[in-house]
Amino acid sequence: MASKKYDLVIKDGRVIDPALGFGKEAHVFVKNGRIVKIQKDSAAVARDLKSLDNDQLIDAAGKIVVPGLIDIHVHLREPGGEAKETIETGCRAAAAGGFTSVCCMPNTTPRIDNQETVKFVQDRAASADARVYVVGAITKNIEGKELSEIGDLVKIGAVAVTDDGNYVQNPEIMRRALEYARMFDIPVMQHAEDQFLCAGGVMNESFQSSRLGIKGAPAVAEEIAVTRDIALCQVTGGRLHIQHVTTRGAVEAIRKAKLAGINVTAEVTPHHLVLTDEEIGKEFNTNLRVNPPLRTAADRDAVIEGLIDGTIDCIASDHAPHAEQDKDCEFDMAPPGMIGLETTVGLIKTYLIDKGYLSWADAVRKMTSNPARILGLPGGNLAMDSPADITIIDPEKKWTVRADRFQSRSKNSAFIGYKLSGRVFKTIMGGRIVFG
Ligand SMILES: [Zn+2]
Repeated sequence: MASKKYDLVIKDGRVIDPALGFGKEAHVFVKNGRIVKIQKDSAAVARDLKSLDNDQLIDAAGKIVVPGLIDIHVHLREPGGEAKETIETGCRAAAAGGFTSVCCMPNTTPRIDNQETVKFVQDRAASADARVYVVGAITKNIEGKELSEIGDLVKIGAVAVTDDGNYVQNPEIMRRALEYARMFDIPVMQHAEDQFLCAGGVMNESFQSSRLGIKGAPAVAEEIAVTRDIALCQVTGGRLHIQHVTTRGAVEAIRKAKLAGINVTAEVTPHHLVLTDEEIGKEFNTNLRVNPPLRTAADRDAVIEGLIDGTIDCIASDHAPHAEQDKDCEFDMAPPGMIGLETTVGLIKTYLIDKGYLSWADAVRKMTSNPARILGLPGGNLAMDSPADITIIDPEKKWTVRADRFQSRSKNSAFIGYKLSGRVFKTIMGGRIVFG
C-alpha cells in the first residue's frame, strides 16, 4: 500500500505562531507526527485536501491554531498524592486545557530530589497525554538545608530546580544553588515568599484581612524575597526565575533588574491576574486560599501591567490539586492551592484578551515560546519538521466552568460557575489527538 501523503490536516484555521511571526489563515499539514507544511489555500492545496479521508481532516474554520501550550508550573502530585492527582489524570487535564507540555514541581512524596524519583516520573509520563518535564528540588527533601545533587538531576533530565512551596530562606544556600545551576545552564525557580514574614498568614495582609480577622501574609514578604534573589542572581551570574509574581513591588523590582541586564525571568498565574483578596470575604471559599495569596486590586493591576510590558515573561497555572475533603474546612485550615490547567485559556481570553490587555499573539507567546525559552524546552512554535504539538482554540465559545467536567482528579477551582469565553477545541501532541 502506498504511504499516505499526510496523516492529518488542520484546515482553514487562523494560524498564530508568535515565534515565527505567523498570523494568518492557513492549513497545517502533519505527517509521521511532525509538521510538514503550513500553506495558504491554493488550487494545489485544494487537490491535496481532496485526496484525504474525512477522518484525516480537522475543520478549524473560525478557530485559532497555535503551538501546543506549555505550562511550566504544575503539581502532578505523583508519587505520594495519588488521591489528589496522578501523572495520568494531570496530563489529561493538561490536554483538556490545551497544554501539550507541562513542568512538574518536586514537592511530591518522596520529593523529586534524586535521580530515581525523576526517572519514576519520566517513566509514568511516557504514555501520558502531555509531555512532562521534571523540575528537581534545590535542596534535599525541600528542607532548605543541604543542596540536592543538582548535576545528577540535570544529567537524568531535570530542566530546572525549585523548592516550590517553600522559599529557600538561607541566602548562602540560594547563592550556591545559582552557582551550581549556572554550570548546567538551567534556571533556579524560586517561590519567593520570606517564610518568617509569612508565618501563619493565610491571605494577603491588608484591609481585607483585618476586616475578616484572618492572619495575613504581607506583600513585603514577596518583595524582600525577590529583591534578595535578584541581588544573588547578579553576583553569581546565574539564571533566576521568579514563580507566581503577585505584588506591585515585586513587578517593579523585576522590571528594574531586567533593565540592568540581570538574568531574571518571571511568571504569573491566571488566578492572580483575575482575582483579588476582596473575593475571600464573600463566601470564604477555601479554593481562594493560595500561596502566594490573592492580593489587592492595585497589585493585580500591576501584574497585568508587568505582563503587558514583558516584565513578566509567561503565564503558568500553578495547578495545585487538593482532594475535596482537604478543602472542606475553615478557610485558615485549608491547604493552599487551586487547579488551573483547564481554565487558563478561558480566563486569559475573557479577562485579558477581551478586555484589551493582550492580543492573541501576546497571550500565545506567553504560553508557548517564552516558557520554552526560559527552560530550554523543545516546542513552543510550529517550525517545519518539529513534533506536531498543536492547540486549536474556539475563541468565541461561551461556556460555564463545571466541577463535573474537569479531567483533573481534583475539583478545587475558585472559578466553578464562572462564565467564560474561549475554549480549547482540540489538542494534538506529536500528531495524536489527545483532546477533543
Ligand atoms: Zn509556589
